[in-house]
Amino acid sequence: MNPFTYARPTGIDEAVSLFTPDSRYIAGGTNLLDLMKENVTHPEQLIDITRLPLKDIEETADGGLRIGALVSNSDLAWDSRIEQHYPLLSKAILAGASPQLRNMATTGGNLLQRTRCYYFYDADTPCNKREPGSGCPARDGLNRIHAILGHSEQCIAVHPSDMCVGLAALDATVIVKGSDGERRIAFADFHRLPGNEPERDNTLADGELVTAVELPAENFSTHCAYLKIRDRQSYAFALVSVAAALQLDGGVIRNVRVALGGVAHKPWRNPEAEALLVGRPADKAAFGELADALLAGAIGFNDNQFKIELARRAIVRALSDAVEGAV
Ligand code: SF4
Repeated sequence: MNPFTYARPTGIDEAVSLFTPDSRYIAGGTNLLDLMKENVTHPEQLIDITRLPLKDIEETADGGLRIGALVSNSDLAWDSRIEQHYPLLSKAILAGASPQLRNMATTGGNLLQRTRCYYFYDADTPCNKREPGSGCPARDGLNRIHAILGHSEQCIAVHPSDMCVGLAALDATVIVKGSDGERRIAFADFHRLPGNEPERDNTLADGELVTAVELPAENFSTHCAYLKIRDRQSYAFALVSVAAALQLDGGVIRNVRVALGGVAHKPWRNPEAEALLVGRPADKAAFGELADALLAGAIGFNDNQFKIELARRAIVRALSDAVEGAV
């Protein structure tokens, strides 16, 4: 690990003003410290944001919730308002990591965690995400856990978060603060596909700090399911995950949301395909059509072709579970 300086601001503006191009904000540190120990990233300054006033969950004027960036994953998952009104988010969070990690990991940090591609963490191998232009050994190498949607010649990695899959389905908004002030980013626009810049995971500008995540009032608390398929039942990243939510009117679909994890560089949604199901009976035929639309254009690699059919079945199952209630 390289030497670094350490700053501990107490105000948001102070934290932002301390940022330099070689700085990193640190809160729970559950991913950043691994990246530093594995020689993947070498910040010259760590800005410890754990003293900032970002630890509350508050109701918004429109009846939604504003979640401070420093709310731990555990506190968020077990918050009674989240459990009651946004059970999909609670279930997604509890499907991720371990209790110890969830106690340390924060809401903001969860959004910013980096891919678990094996090559990304091995500083002795090329990797376009770690070192742009060096190559992508995953394309012809070990790619069982990699993307089937939205990948590029430069990178086929997936985003590892479960929480973000739930937030994508719920149409959350990310609030960030930078030297130019505050801005709001729709969740669908926060993470990005790799394209020609796989080193960029998201649309944050340099130095922008995630301060909160907002959930809209409209919720899907009655009919929702988070289904995570993984190699072992505990403490494993998703091969495929599905956040499914429905609003039903006598068995007819009034609104439907499906977000996929483990398949792309960002949580994967297709709102146009979702809209086509409005007014249809909530049955497996409709769910299968939505699955086909979501997976249109999916392309696998040597080890992960199975994910395409796995994802299709997982989508139908998660939506069927959601019809039964909050699962
Ligand atoms: Fe690096 Fe992306 Fe290729 Fe993995 S998939 S080796 S993260 S460029």
